[in-house]
Amino acid sequence: MQAEDMKYIQKLKLLGRHFPQESKKDESIPIRVAVTGAAGQIGFFLCFMIAQGRMFGPYQKVILHLLELPAAEGPLKGLVMELKDGAFPLVADIVPSTDVNVAFNGIDAAVLVGARPRGPGMERKDLLTANAAIFKAQGEALDKYAKKSVKVLVVGNPANTNALIASHYAPSLPKKNFTALTRLDQNRAVSQLADKTSSRVEDIKNVVIWGNHSLTQYPSVQYGKIGDQSIIKAVADDKYLKGEFIPKVAKRGGEIISVMKKSSAASAANAACDHMHDWFIGTKQGEYCSMGIITDGSQYGIAAGICYSFPTECRNGDWTVVKGLELNAYDKELITKSEKELLDERKMALDM
Ligand code: NDP
Repeated sequence: MQAEDMKYIQKLKLLGRHFPQESKKDESIPIRVAVTGAAGQIGFFLCFMIAQGRMFGPYQKVILHLLELPAAEGPLKGLVMELKDGAFPLVADIVPSTDVNVAFNGIDAAVLVGARPRGPGMERKDLLTANAAIFKAQGEALDKYAKKSVKVLVVGNPANTNALIASHYAPSLPKKNFTALTRLDQNRAVSQLADKTSSRVEDIKNVVIWGNHSLTQYPSVQYGKIGDQSIIKAVADDKYLKGEFIPKVAKRGGEIISVMKKSSAASAANAACDHMHDWFIGTKQGEYCSMGIITDGSQYGIAAGICYSFPTECRNGDWTVVKGLELNAYDKELITKSEKELLDERKMALDM
């Protein structure tokens, strides 16, 4: 590796991005990554971040497979024009389509952002059912057309249950290949703690999200550190950690809508990059990241067959749930609450 390259990687590390010293991969072979809902708010930011190397690293070529609804064909064309005008050296090609079978053909990675938003008068069950239909079709297309090693991240809400549905309808793909985004909740928790303790975000480690990307999520600081000190000691305010902190993280999306009059998008795209980055490239030694994964019944007593977020570590393109973390009665109460909600969502979605 050239001295200039090493300098660049050092700089990225200072920014909190982790890259192995020497990549064994041939980064000139492009990763084919699909983004659904590509011309939407999150998708738009996401495509530019991928093109800039935020997802797979600063040297990895990509081919962008961009899926949109036929109604959004115009914005999709505009997005492709803007990406071309970016003249990004990492973008080897762009495959725009309104046909899911074309968009998922031969892909290595998929970020499923496009989803049905909650409309006026829509109940939670209606939202789950409408999205179950979308993620059923996308699961079937992944099963038929994507590489068997495809890594799937679901962002479109209800993200955990949508990931479960997609996996359910892709029986030839390992369940391990389907994940849901809770990294934004983790990043939000880190940022809240940095403000509270006047610390730097990069000094805060192992804050994790358990459960659903919803109000029942449990952002846990139990195993986290700020520098060498435990977060619990550094904050020294149990009332804050068990009171204000949890709803502040869980309701942050709503808080942004109330001030901006539209939902968060750039931070969601950024978190999707963090999630895929860690999955493909690996987490730093001893550091955890939060990922919604499909349970098999062996993780912390959580029921099998739901998409539940755990502390995970990633190595060699694979994630594993961190084992042996101690859970006290308070933790158990909160992790069970989210489990119940996910079991309920699964029932509603699969009843469609
Ligand atoms: P956004 O890009 O703002 O959001 C897309 C999805 O991401 C929504 O389900 C949204 O959930 C979810 N999301 C997850 N985390 C966050 C977060 N932190 N902040 C905000 N949203 C979050 O929606 P747009 O309407 O701008 O774009 C969606 C695009 O998808 C459109 O271009 C549309 O054409 C396309 N689409 C494609 C479909 C398909 O491929 N079959 C189906 C439906 C739409 P929430 O609703 O809870 O905010």
